[in-house]
Amino acid sequence: MDIDELQDKLRNLRVDRNQSRYTVGKAPHKAFLLLSLTILDRHGKVDLDDLRPDIYLKQTWDDLWSVLDYPQPGSITQPLFHMRSDGFWNLQFSRPYTRTSSLKAFQEQLERASLDEGFQDILKDQDARNQVINTLLQEGGYFSPDESQRLRERLEELDDSFVYEERLVDELKKEFQMSWDVDLVAAKSVPMAAKRDPAFRRLVLNAYEETCAVCGMRIATSSGVTVIDAAHILPFNRFHNDDVRNGLSLCKTHHWLFDRGLLSADESYRILVSDDVEQDWPRGVVRSHHRKKLLLPQCPEEHPSELAMRWHSENVFR
Ligand SMILES: [Zn+2]
Repeated sequence: MDIDELQDKLRNLRVDRNQSRYTVGKAPHKAFLLLSLTILDRHGKVDLDDLRPDIYLKQTWDDLWSVLDYPQPGSITQPLFHMRSDGFWNLQFSRPYTRTSSLKAFQEQLERASLDEGFQDILKDQDARNQVINTLLQEGGYFSPDESQRLRERLEELDDSFVYEERLVDELKKEFQMSWDVDLVAAKSVPMAAKRDPAFRRLVLNAYEETCAVCGMRIATSSGVTVIDAAHILPFNRFHNDDVRNGLSLCKTHHWLFDRGLLSADESYRILVSDDVEQDWPRGVVRSHHRKKLLLPQCPEEHPSELAMRWHSENVFR
């Protein structure tokens, strides 16, 4: 397959044409999936020979989808399955496939998903990869000119977020630093936050497998969108520290309590619940975690810094 042939396929992805909830009338699911795969491949975050809908793919998809003002979330399961009719997407199932809109149920049946070798070869060339992106954004009729422009800007920010992520991973080879060596002004600015946040979130949620470190809660939608947050232990606005060891994955309630000092943990990761938590209903929903141990990442290098934990328990906890 050469680039012209591929571009022709990309302009003519088989999609629903009359979905009134989408602005230009052509369902953009497949274009979103291909844009996500293109950017992940560029940064070595996906195996196009054996593709798994992991946190990287789910988050990139969700991130791009949220750039546009669609009234409802889109399911990644839909294009993962239906792209098999476009001539470059191979699916093998471990048993006869039962149609589903649930990503989890799809994954359970999936043996292997892969992109054609010809397509993969094209993505290895930078110019050709840019042509693929341009075709999807501008020529397929999946997006309006304004939407294409917004998506292009977001793709550039995500590109930077993967570069930033590499830097965060490098930091793990060093000892944890309370202070953080960044240009503070740049780090505080909104454009920088758009690049930092996705990187910190990917690393923390991946380390904790999208599970709250306090209560073990794990909630995701059928399309794999998680409600779990990536929280900073040392507050970012003060320490500017995005090291994964300054992160905890927390559900919304525990994140809120943690940021306000009503919840913390000591250096041996024992959870502390403040006496200031007065109402605690259903009975013990917060207090029952007192003195229990935080649920930690599998990988010891990614465990929260004891220094950061101590600082939080001495300075934020009340
Ligand atoms: Zn929780």
